[in-house]
Amino acid sequence: MQYIDMQYIDTYELTRLGSTVQGQAPIARFTRLTADLPEQSDAPVAWAVTGETDARGQRFLRVAVKAAPVLECQRCMRPFEWRVETENRLQVVKSEADLDVEGVHDAEPDELIERIVGSARLDVLDLVEDEIILSLPYVPKHDVCPSLPVPLAEEQPESEPGKPSPFAVLSQLKKN
Ligand SMILES: [Zn+2]
Repeated sequence: MQYIDMQYIDTYELTRLGSTVQGQAPIARFTRLTADLPEQSDAPVAWAVTGETDARGQRFLRVAVKAAPVLECQRCMRPFEWRVETENRLQVVKSEADLDVEGVHDAEPDELIERIVGSARLDVLDLVEDEIILSLPYVPKHDVCPSLPVPLAEEQPESEPGKPSPFAVLSQLKKN
């Protein structure tokens, strides 16, 4: 597996040029994500970030992420792959102070858009990791759990001494 190993992006350049950068990284690299998860597969995390500038000069990043973290099913406690395919649009602002400004001329006032502070050296893997974490279900579960092992109670009870099991009786009959 060949990874396009990139960790930092320049949000100013991306939004100015309207260009896209993309890469792949092993999921093991996302330690905040995997810390409390079962052992991961070697499925890579693929991401793409596209810069945009609208007519009013507002800048955005479109972040697309594809990943398959292994989660533990809370019903049968077995690991399963959770397919993540998300796309999110973030507004790039100039400073920390701008993060909390009410409705910075959003296209739609109701649209709740996340904001990040622009940087010439933004940790894109950190951003991607956030997107995956946000996409995880609160209670991970299989759609349909694989068949459960036979509960102990249903196993063949041990035959009582002096009382041959029905199968033993059956084999005796066959011999005669
Ligand atoms: Zn399950």
